[in-house]
Amino acid sequence: MSPGSGESVDMPARRMEPPVTPVTEPFWAATRRREFLLQWCRRCDEPIFYPREVCPRCLEAQLEWRPASGRGTVNAVSVQHRPAMPLPAFTDGPYVVALVELAEGVCVMSNVTGTPPDEVTVGMPVTLTWEALSDGRNLPQFQPARAAP
Ligand code: ZN
Repeated sequence: MSPGSGESVDMPARRMEPPVTPVTEPFWAATRRREFLLQWCRRCDEPIFYPREVCPRCLEAQLEWRPASGRGTVNAVSVQHRPAMPLPAFTDGPYVVALVELAEGVCVMSNVTGTPPDEVTVGMPVTLTWEALSDGRNLPQFQPARAAP
């Protein structure tokens, strides 16, 4: 966040932004298109999250990236009343940290937005939404799924 440190940014970071590693680079590159990719093991044909170098079940190293449905269900939820960091940029009110089980069967720790925090409940269906990060990536978030019209 300090100016003149070499890396140019489009806007100031307003949250802690996840680092990119060689293993997570394809995931973060896809978020620039607002696409949520899951790793799949070619041997088990099972999804993997978070991104890893090998399948945690069979240690297969041949993993491939496939788009996720973006649908999920809240498995656990907590409301955070204190900001993540004691900085002026982190002054948002209470926010929801939730464990979301994706339709594919893997769990993602994320935030649920677009609804009052106290209304997020276990079992709530949610869909993917995005929060722009300062470097062009987007952070996956979830919001309550709207009933089909
Ligand atoms: Zn496997």
